[in-house]
Amino acid sequence: MRPALLNPLFQDITVLKGIGPKTAPLVSKVAGPRIVDLLWTLPQNIVDRTYRPRIADAEDGRLATISVHVDSHHEPPRGKSLVPWKVLCSDDTGYLTLIFFRPRADFLHRSLPTGQTRLVSGTVEYYGSERQMAHPDYIISPDEFSTLPLIEPVYPLTAGLAGKTIRRAVEQAVDRTPDVPEWLAEDVLQKERWPDWKAALIAAHQPSSKLDLSADSTARRRLAYDEILAHQLALALIRARRASRPGRILKGDGQLTAAVREALPFRLTAGQEEALHDITTDMAAPSRMVRLVQGDVGSGKTVVALLALLTAVEAGAQAALMAPTEILARQHFDEIAPLCDRLNIACVLITGRDKGQERQAKRDGVRKGYVQVVVGTHALFSDDVAFADLGLVVVDEQHRFGVAQRLELQDKGQQADVLVMTATPIPRTLALTTYGDMDISQIREKPPGRKPVATKAIPAQRLDAVIEAVGRTIAKGEQVYWVCPLVSPSETMDMVSAEDRAATLKARFGDAVGLVHGQMKGPQKDAVVSSFYRGDIQVLVATTVIEVGVNTPNATVIVIEHAERFGLAQLHQLRGRVGRGDKPASCILLYHAGESGLGPTAKARLNALRETEDGFVIAEEDLALRGPGDSLGTAQSGFPQFRMADIGSQGSLLQMASDDARRTVMTDPELKTERGEALRILLYLFSRDDAVKLLRAG
Ligand code: ADP
Ligand code: MG
Repeated sequence: MRPALLNPLFQDITVLKGIGPKTAPLVSKVAGPRIVDLLWTLPQNIVDRTYRPRIADAEDGRLATISVHVDSHHEPPRGKSLVPWKVLCSDDTGYLTLIFFRPRADFLHRSLPTGQTRLVSGTVEYYGSERQMAHPDYIISPDEFSTLPLIEPVYPLTAGLAGKTIRRAVEQAVDRTPDVPEWLAEDVLQKERWPDWKAALIAAHQPSSKLDLSADSTARRRLAYDEILAHQLALALIRARRASRPGRILKGDGQLTAAVREALPFRLTAGQEEALHDITTDMAAPSRMVRLVQGDVGSGKTVVALLALLTAVEAGAQAALMAPTEILARQHFDEIAPLCDRLNIACVLITGRDKGQERQAKRDGVRKGYVQVVVGTHALFSDDVAFADLGLVVVDEQHRFGVAQRLELQDKGQQADVLVMTATPIPRTLALTTYGDMDISQIREKPPGRKPVATKAIPAQRLDAVIEAVGRTIAKGEQVYWVCPLVSPSETMDMVSAEDRAATLKARFGDAVGLVHGQMKGPQKDAVVSSFYRGDIQVLVATTVIEVGVNTPNATVIVIEHAERFGLAQLHQLRGRVGRGDKPASCILLYHAGESGLGPTAKARLNALRETEDGFVIAEEDLALRGPGDSLGTAQSGFPQFRMADIGSQGSLLQMASDDARRTVMTDPELKTERGEALRILLYLFSRDDAVKLLRAG
């Protein structure tokens, strides 16, 4: 139950004065439906009324607050509503005309009585020698001066919403803010010199200069930290809760893994060894493993996965490897099955496409425990697949799975250890926000001897030359990927589609060209990819379906058409499809520039890609260019959206919060200390009720 002191913040915005049935949806659109959402909506700008010139000194076009003597009213002639009402004012330096269209007469006479002094605040404009101020924002008497907001916050707006409406609403929200016990540790507060939460909130909503709008201001940093901390603490609690569930001890005797290492034509890199060490240590521990291995394309995650699978088998358990697509599952199976055969281990492939007796036989084998290694798609976790004794699940290419699926998977596996592999290098900061509930190992280096993929950006006008280059490549017996953003021609988007391009290339290279895209049926897709893999076709025109994991070492050239349309991380991922063998490889970024040339972001992306092949560097760059919500292609990325924190620029806060959260969960797992109690309030404040529920009652 949410603590009562927060209740005023969780009411509907409609309880606020000035928010009625008409304005509520608008405010809701900008901020959110609850009062607390208004607190999180920080001003984007300020209106500064501190400029107080005399009339003669007032600059044209500048917002000014001026003390004037009201000389006379000049009403428009009756029936001439287009003529403004003018009020002549002065000080001892000159004259100022106040202009009002369609005013309420009684209002004007009351607020601007002839013969009196008034303060008017608004924008001064020159018309020839006349100085005017149309519809002043404020008209007040000198003794009311203290009520004039000299600096006014400006909030985000939407059509039909007046600045004043949202400002008043936020003011009321801030007024309702209760005093809360401090949830930050004393040393953090002192080191950062942060105000308490309520003071920070008030300061953030009452900026006194543009500096206060900066994400670096102490008030905003504190608020951002609170938001991040709530998130990190919730993740840490989920993680701790999972680790406290009984797992099992999976300790291998090293027989199978030694045999595989023996058979490998290479030695593991230090990074691979380290990741494997993390994994086997986790597996041997009595609690459940939930570990993420992040490794760039080609960093050699598959063999690490295989050794983990075999460790589970050595320990007498079953192990499963799950891939996001049929193609990938098959490819893994093709790689792993021969090794298993040699070691006398039964290994099957399970996909949604298994039919009839074979389907039954495979499932029986898994259920009865004859089968030790299972490779498959998400079908692995459908209801008709039951494991005799599943010890380890490895999930490959994780970013294709959403966070929800990850949870579901962990539930299915009951006590099984979970190892997630992602080929998308994620900046450290983002990894913490997205995978804060997991332990992370990174494989940063590539196997030795990799030649860089020569990367060139070429304008579409030189298409013919690129096609010639493709011809030379296939004449050498090597293969080519050609990626297009769309499947078929589109009426709304002026882009070359995969179908179009396949047709052009077929006209030139005939049957050497194949086409694969996401709208094809699974078996059809697999057939094309397999024939490319076997070398029956030399040019594979594709959409981004090939982005993930597909491995054809003989492919040495990838052409990415409309490269300007792809995100940086995606381009990097696509480029990783080549350069997997021992021959030199190249990546051609074929771009279609509009009349005004490439936009700055597209240019920056293509440059970044040419300059480095380190996926982690590229990921940081991508984050900088696109902002966090965007960096993996939003929909499936599962990145939390922060209201106040900017993960791009406030990454250091994230690290701090992550450390803080983990330390807290270790020393005060039930949040029972005084600080713990305060942290519960923080969790509720940011609607992490789910995390609070994990705590034992009381
Ligand atoms: P990814 O991390 O993208 O899944 P893979 O596991 O597919 O990478 O590995 C890419 C290629 O590198 C494979 O052909 C694999 O056999 C090879 N490889 C993996 N580890 C090493 C290593 N330590 N030394 C040399 N080659 C390796
Ligand atoms: Mg892989």
